[in-house]
Parts: sequence; structure tokens; C-alpha cells
Amino acid sequence: MAGCGGNCESCSSNCGSKENGSLIEPTGIFNNIKHIVAVVSGKGGVGKSTVTSMLAVEMSRKGYKVGILDADITGPSIPKAFGIKDKALQNELGILPAETKTGIKIISVNMMLEQADAPVIWRGPVIAGLVKQFWQEVVWGDLDYLLIDCPPGTGDVPLTVFQTIPLDGIVIVTSPQDLVSLIVKKAFNMADMMNIPVIGMIENMSYVKCPDCGKEFSVFGNGSDSIVKETGSKLLAKMPIDVNLAKQIDMGVVELFEGDFLENAVNEIENFKK
Ligand code: ADP
Repeated sequence: MAGCGGNCESCSSNCGSKENGSLIEPTGIFNNIKHIVAVVSGKGGVGKSTVTSMLAVEMSRKGYKVGILDADITGPSIPKAFGIKDKALQNELGILPAETKTGIKIISVNMMLEQADAPVIWRGPVIAGLVKQFWQEVVWGDLDYLLIDCPPGTGDVPLTVFQTIPLDGIVIVTSPQDLVSLIVKKAFNMADMMNIPVIGMIENMSYVKCPDCGKEFSVFGNGSDSIVKETGSKLLAKMPIDVNLAKQIDMGVVELFEGDFLENAVNEIENFKK
């Protein structure tokens, strides 16, 4: 829903959102966000936050203004990948996101906790409420792309994101294991049931490249191929297991990573028309 501020009441367009009694909420009046893409996965640990971070880095390198809304409230990993330790500030306009070294704007629950390792032990509706607050009350300003790092699965938060934020579409992250493939179909089906376009799939941990001979090994097999066929979705990119990437994420310097595994994925997102 490119260009949609989410405020149906003041909008003259008669799009589907209005007719269907949409639950889409407006973002703050200071925000001008051109495209919104949610990154989801069926299962945890497949590298969804890593892919979100790398997409943001690749988009920012192409000159886009990018923000990341970390909606993975109970397992937030985005601030760590970018080395963000500051707490979120607030002024009369709203909550101010942190800005990374290359200008990517980030908001995450970890920027609001006294200690980064404090657990978030909240009920689903409270967690979903915070995600809504990140959408409505953060002063994002002008953004070309807002990426939303959703928690894994099909629970409260993905539901809130799908219902209340005017997404262009979602990117589904998977790893090529049969078990993950089975569960990832739930994410596809959820998007389908809620009329959210699937931009495509990114297969993470696809292979490992031998540093000596350059040969590629498919550690987990080719589990995602059948899903791509079955769902008719696009495979946007395959990302290998990369020791340097893991190290740089741990060190909080993901912006220094030199690989361009997601270049094609970013091109596809750029060209995606709902
Ligand atoms: P998720 O968001 O799906 O739970 P994360 O992105 O947090 O998963 O990744 C889990 C762990 O795996 C992290 O430590 C991350 O650095 C590592 N990881 C993810 N993808 C890769 C990759 N392609 N190469 C190396 N390490 C990876």
C-alpha cells in the first residue's frame, strides 16, 4: 500500500482497505514513509533478524533512507547487530529512534529497558500494543523503506502488524530444512488469508563455501525448493552461512560486512508492485 498513511477517514481513495472495514492505523503526522516491508519467518533461529539487518544495510548503501522497527519484542536482536546501546529518547513530537553510523533509524524494546538482558515478561496484548506504539508514536520522519522485524510464527504480533500497518508486502525468511519448510507454509497461508502480498522468500544458511577450494556445501539440503514451487512465490536470494557475518553481527558492526548476498533481493523489493 505504497503512499498510504493508513488514515482512511481523511482519504478520498476507495481502496479495499476502506470497504473492508480496515483496522489500519495512521502513523504520526511527522512521518512520510514510502514503503513498508515486514520480514517474517515460520520458526525462530533461521536468521530473520540477520536478513532484516542486511536488507537495511544493502538498501542504505543504495542511497535509500531506511528504518527498522524491531517488533521481535521478546527476542530483540537488531540493536546488538548495529552496536546500538543508547536508550530511546522522547520529545514533544514522540519517541526518537536511534541512528546507526550509516544513518539507519532503529527502534527496539531493548532501547527502553534498564538492562539489555532484562526479560520482557508481558502478555501478548501488551506486546502487540508496544508494536502499535512504535508505528504510531516514533518520529521516523522521511523514510524510503521501513523494515519490520516480526517475531517468528503466526502469533499476536504478526497479526497486529498485518492488520494495523499498511504493508507493501512481506519477505519470508527460511532455512533449507524440511521441518522449517513445513512451518514456513503457515506464514504463507497466514499472509494469504489476510490478503498481504508475499514479495518473496529468502533462503538463509543455504550453503557453506570452503575457504580453501571455494566448493559450496549444502549443509541442510534443498528443503526450500519445494515450497517455492508449491506456493509459486519468488526465491529472492540465497544467503550462505558466513563466519564473518556472524562475527560482525556479534561485534555490532554489521554495517561493515562486505558481502552483497541480498543485492538481488533488494532489486526485487524495489521493483515490487502490489
Ligand atoms: P532469527 O531472527 O531468525 O531468530 P537471527 O538472525 O537472530 O535469527 O540469527 C540467529 C543466529 O544465527 C545469530 O547469531 C546470527 O548471527 C546467526 N546467523 C544467521 N544467519 C547467518 C549466516 N548466514 N551466517 C552466519 N551466521 C548467521
